Amino acid sequence: MNAENGTGRDGHVTIIGAGIVGASTALHLLQDGWRVTLLDSEAPGSQTSYGNAGAISPQSINPMAGPGMLKQIPGWLLDPLGPLALRKRYLPKALPWLMKFVAAGTPARIADQSKALAALHAPVIDAHEELAELAGVKHLIHRQGWLSLYETDANFNSDATGRQRMRAAGHEIHELGPEEIAQLEPGLAPIFKHATWVPNSGHTANPGALTEAYARQAAAMGTEIIQAKALGFEVGPDGPHTLKTSQGDLKLDRLVIAAGAWSARLSQQLGDGFPLESERGYHMMLPNPGFTTRRPVSFNERKFMTTTMEKGLRLAGTVEFAGLEAPPTWGRADKLLTHASQVFREVDTSDAERWMGQRPATPDSLPVISGSPHHARVFYAFGHGHLGLTGGAVTGRHIAALVAGRDPEIDLTPFRVDRY
Ligand SMILES: Cc1cc2nc3c(=O)[nH]c(=O)nc-3n(C[C@H](O)[C@H](O)[C@H](O)COP(=O)(O)OP(=O)(O)OC[C@H]3O[C@@H](n4cnc5c(N)ncnc54)[C@H](O)[C@@H]3O)c2cc1C
Repeated sequence: MNAENGTGRDGHVTIIGAGIVGASTALHLLQDGWRVTLLDSEAPGSQTSYGNAGAISPQSINPMAGPGMLKQIPGWLLDPLGPLALRKRYLPKALPWLMKFVAAGTPARIADQSKALAALHAPVIDAHEELAELAGVKHLIHRQGWLSLYETDANFNSDATGRQRMRAAGHEIHELGPEEIAQLEPGLAPIFKHATWVPNSGHTANPGALTEAYARQAAAMGTEIIQAKALGFEVGPDGPHTLKTSQGDLKLDRLVIAAGAWSARLSQQLGDGFPLESERGYHMMLPNPGFTTRRPVSFNERKFMTTTMEKGLRLAGTVEFAGLEAPPTWGRADKLLTHASQVFREVDTSDAERWMGQRPATPDSLPVISGSPHHARVFYAFGHGHLGLTGGAVTGRHIAALVAGRDPEIDLTPFRVDRY
């Protein structure tokens, strides 16, 4: 291997996880000349990266644990239609993570997290367009902006600081009233008093197909894709040299763990534990909604989003803490239909299809993009929470820099695996 001069022609990298983060990382490593193996227990792009809302939103720089959010949590938990659920039995397990989440919500920490997210997210649309072009699916990336809606003055006003941060980071943010909202999206019910309109935001109309296309392109460039579950490692003085999988052992040279919400189970085995929780989210696909929206639309009070996808209108959102193993609570997906019938003038919800995914959530809303402090040949790319489609392509670029020993384009200190 020849990492010293920035190429990997003689070196090999195994990536665990073929979601948007792992597949993007594979493409960047291949472009650097590494040989790559992509291992996933499921089909590439079939897990969380399949069913998200498709937003590629550089302006999403405000961490989840803001003071506004923390104040609303008790009310949400009591509201049967509310955007947040915590299974009682799961509370003891989630509590340490929740305490870190609350601690991440101080003004000083929010300012730091937001600065880090702004640097990470600045080039995200270009970064996806570049990979999508390489994979022959540039038509899947759109630049049609983002509309964020408010039903009450109070909620709109409480997000003023967030808007200020986005503007300070260079994003063009317009504030709209009811008439302008109706002009942009005529299918909406006339219940919205305010909106934030971000013209320079992007989306994909098929996140599953985008991820699959990246993985397919990686295969075309020589990547071996193995369907097997990573179970553990054999570790020697130079770090992990063997990966135990459900299909037998694999020799390891360099390793990237990009296994989404399941990543900390693996990183922990290498001595790099990390507080990662699954924020389970749901979607409903409406194949014949009767209208289209032109860009992702988010509903602030109800905490869900809608995006017109290739196969219909997707309603996506809600957060549920119940762990990786619990069966889906489909009632949470059904509640999205109730919201849809209230926020659109008319919507056909027949033949709706439900889906659940596991957001890999960190307490401070920052992903882990990091080398291992214990093993020179191990790297981590996980924990993108609500923004993994957005951050997937740039994460691959930064991981490729770390693997090659190049200076990353941005300061990756806030994304270190050992920050907790
Ligand atoms: C309802 C909802 C809406 C969302 N909307 C958006 C949005 O609009 N914009 C946005 O940017 N983000 C959004 N997200 C978040 C985004 O989907 C995730 O952050 C992103 O998909 C995470 O990608 P990933 O590659 O890390 O994980 P995944 O896509 O989950 O991929 C991880 C892969 O690792 C594999 N794996 C795990 N463990 C093992 C193992 N032991 N062995 C082998 N393979 C393993 C899994 O099978 C999986 O394929 C949304 C999420 C949800 C749930």
